[in-house]
Amino acid sequence: MENAVLITIGDEILSGNTIDTNSNFIATELKNIGVKVTQIFTISDEIETIKNTLRKAFEMGSLIITTGGLGPTKDDKTKKALAEFFNDELALDEVTFNHLKGYMERRGRIEILERNREQAFVPTKSTVFQNQYGTAPCMMMEQDGKLCFSLPGVPYEVKPLIKDQIVPYLKNKFNLNYITTRIISVVGIPESILSDTIEEWELALPKHIALSYLPIGTRVKLRLTATGEDDQVLQQQLEEEIQKLFPLIGNHIIATVEDKIEKILGELLTERKLTISTAESCTGGELAKLITSNSGSSKYFVGGIVPYAAEKKIQILNVSKKTIDEYTVVSEQVAQEMAAGCQQLFGTHISLSTTGVAGPGKGEDGNEVGTVFYTIKINKEVYNYKLYMPHLERNDFVGFVSQKIIQDLV
Ligand code: ATP
Ligand code: MG
Repeated sequence: MENAVLITIGDEILSGNTIDTNSNFIATELKNIGVKVTQIFTISDEIETIKNTLRKAFEMGSLIITTGGLGPTKDDKTKKALAEFFNDELALDEVTFNHLKGYMERRGRIEILERNREQAFVPTKSTVFQNQYGTAPCMMMEQDGKLCFSLPGVPYEVKPLIKDQIVPYLKNKFNLNYITTRIISVVGIPESILSDTIEEWELALPKHIALSYLPIGTRVKLRLTATGEDDQVLQQQLEEEIQKLFPLIGNHIIATVEDKIEKILGELLTERKLTISTAESCTGGELAKLITSNSGSSKYFVGGIVPYAAEKKIQILNVSKKTIDEYTVVSEQVAQEMAAGCQQLFGTHISLSTTGVAGPGKGEDGNEVGTVFYTIKINKEVYNYKLYMPHLERNDFVGFVSQKIIQDLV
């Protein structure tokens, strides 16, 4: 198994209505078993286009995966294109039909429409992988030792098909190894000193584990990549190696889980038994959403509020009217008072607050679009920040600011 070509089928992706997340997911999962995606096609729901693209894909790769266009509606043409491309015909597959019936009965649909029955028609030469979360089966065709999988488009159907069925199938068939990665985030130690400090550990790493250094800002990410047959064993081995780092640089390690800032925050707060709360104006709850997107966040996130109107900042957070009159609502002083009120309201060690102008219109008090003041309060310590990001659109602005605040806190 050398490389893979992905084909995303659907007019709604070409028109910009749907973002192609399937390719991203599939490419990541294939990378974990050492299969490289070398090309991704996004094409329309047209039989000729699908056939032409399949032809190109077979020239380029030894594994082809298509998603989309398998539904029971007229605009879904992938199956017909597959049958024509492989000089095959569609026929009712009993096993698939029974699976489909079972699936529909479980969902309370006893009567099977003709259109649903059509879902159980597959190319006669195909091997079917049953879809546990939808009605369109996944079909595999083989030609000249190359494999072509056709999957439905719905992401929550694609994910389990890839993860639970196709990846294990490929791994088994081609004797592929798993590639498992862990990232350790280190702060407060320059890269050169870091590499000296852990040199012996690095030299003693087993051959199937590789280390790389990835500096970002004031953080250095150490990436450990292990290759081997059993994913569980690899994870265990990586964990053991990471534990050996603690006696060496333990006080510089801020996270050993995934490289997402909200996860790093979660690990830090849980370890130190700290609680956090938010008072958000211009970010409208995005910050709280980001913090709570980490599982286990109930251990440290106590609560958040969105006091959008100035009078709510006064009523709920004890921001003084005088401060607002003097400095306007979008100001360092108001952000600071919001954080203090929030910390008191929720009784947390840490509080975060935001006040700004997300745009597109100018702020009432003439504050420039893209201006935001935020405060991070940790016990009695107060840190005030200002950002000016006029080039960002509203949604991007809110997302960026939320990420930035967590980065600063970490
Ligand atoms: P269905 O049985 O639902 O019709 P299907 O196999 O025909 O499934 P499509 O009709 O192409 O698939 O897409 C179904 C839904 O999945 C669409 O709403 C689309 O937004 C979403 N979708 C399709 N392809 C992708 C993709 N590459 N990335 C993310 N979402 C997708
Ligand atoms: Mg469809």
